[in-house]
Amino acid sequence: MPLTLRPQEPRTPGARAFLASGPKRLLIDGAWTETARTFETHDPATGVKLADLARAGQAEADLAVAAAASALGRSDWAGMTPAHRAALLWRIADIVEAHADELSELETLDQGKTLRTGRMGEIPAAIAQFRYYAGFATKILGTTIPTSIAHQPAGKQVFAYTRREPIGVVACITPWNSPLLMAAMKLAPALCAGCTVVLKPAEETSLTTLRLGELMIEAGLPHGVVNILTGFGHEVGAALTGHPDVAKVAFTGSTEVGRILIGAARGNLKKLTLELGGKSPAIVLPDADLSLAVPGIARGIFGNSGQVCVAGSRVYAHRSLHDALVNGLAAEANRLPLGHGLDPEAELGPLVSPAQAERVGAYVTEGVAQGAEVAAGGTGFAEAAAFYAPTVLTRTRPEMRLMREEIFGPVVAVTPFDEPEEAIALANDTEYGLAASVWTESLSSAHRMAAAMKAGTVWVNCHSYFSPELPKGGHKASGWGYENGAQGLENYLETKTVCMVV
Ligand code: ADP
Repeated sequence: MPLTLRPQEPRTPGARAFLASGPKRLLIDGAWTETARTFETHDPATGVKLADLARAGQAEADLAVAAAASALGRSDWAGMTPAHRAALLWRIADIVEAHADELSELETLDQGKTLRTGRMGEIPAAIAQFRYYAGFATKILGTTIPTSIAHQPAGKQVFAYTRREPIGVVACITPWNSPLLMAAMKLAPALCAGCTVVLKPAEETSLTTLRLGELMIEAGLPHGVVNILTGFGHEVGAALTGHPDVAKVAFTGSTEVGRILIGAARGNLKKLTLELGGKSPAIVLPDADLSLAVPGIARGIFGNSGQVCVAGSRVYAHRSLHDALVNGLAAEANRLPLGHGLDPEAELGPLVSPAQAERVGAYVTEGVAQGAEVAAGGTGFAEAAAFYAPTVLTRTRPEMRLMREEIFGPVVAVTPFDEPEEAIALANDTEYGLAASVWTESLSSAHRMAAAMKAGTVWVNCHSYFSPELPKGGHKASGWGYENGAQGLENYLETKTVCMVV
């Protein structure tokens, strides 16, 4: 894990202009609004300040929710035809695509991820969300329902149907691991459904969400339909999630904050979708093709420096190939060049902050003190505090904290097993249930294991494969509800039954 930290500057005029354009403001009712209080965002690789950001609180949450509530019924939004709404979503996708290089650079600078991760993966995935849900805007259908109601005035009939209506004002709260993609995964279905939104990005990574706000205005989004508030979770996040005029909260983040939001939703019984933590297993059966499994599992845990909710952090390898797998993963960990995400030579960037790197290191140090062995990595870097070496551990035990809690860093533990039933029991021995992968050449084993995994997504011979068509959500303590696909749209719609005597 060689680390070479060469200074990097953004190349696109758009990213440079955005960074040079001064303090960043809030988007409320179509206007960019200042706050008295501000906070800073930094490049995690270098610690260099990128921008001052507005720090919203209760007052700004009230204004943004009022703007969203007023836009909800306004004729330029509520009266927009489905075809126009589809065209608008498509236009947003086109404009984001035209700025994909610039957005990728901003994401790398603010979050740390490599340019390739953003430009080849997450930014196109964000664009795909708008195009996918553009298609749904013209296909939101109610049903007519023949009823069995027997009593009606003579000569009359009962006629009943359902309408699908936007749920109302939605607070979207996103995390720092994949900021633009997480915002798009909430905005696209919410707008498709006709909702209005107050979006709060994570305090560490707000820049691409703010730039997206500018681009959505350029695309013709009516004022107040999307409002963007930057600031801290316990301030503006709490103000939004407790707000009586917010009908729904769509949240991606930690299970700990998810639990807080369940409490905050009590007042007006807000609907919640919660995409929470994970501790995803990868099971490698004796007939696995290691030429797929080694790079696939490495990508599944080291990609985005392990800051992925579905990261495959627990590997259960059949004893016959355990050592080969450990050696393969260790070789990959030792090979991956670390550096600034904008450096084309770097394949792994920093974590989102020095604090996150320290947190990751603490898990490893504690595990090693309790008997875990380091096959690769296991160190931070004194000269660059947000970096942590991709790490492979063996001889961990199920009760260790690093095996039970979400680390959100590039740390994988490999455990041997003898029988598939043992692997299933070990894999499911977690409070989480977000994702799992199974590596095998046997069709029957693949289906049997997929059915046995307690997880919202099971991959076979791959890990972290996503597409807007594929529902994504957590079983157990990994969350409530599903994003993506038709189910992703359901989150933002109410059903109204109309029953009449005619
Ligand atoms: P992570 O572990 O990914 O940082 P968090 O759950 O801490 O996840 O944060 C995810 C998002 O939730 C961020 O936008 C953060 O500001 C927000 N958040 C944190 N605490 C609260 C809270 N009490 N109420 C509402 N939002 C919060």
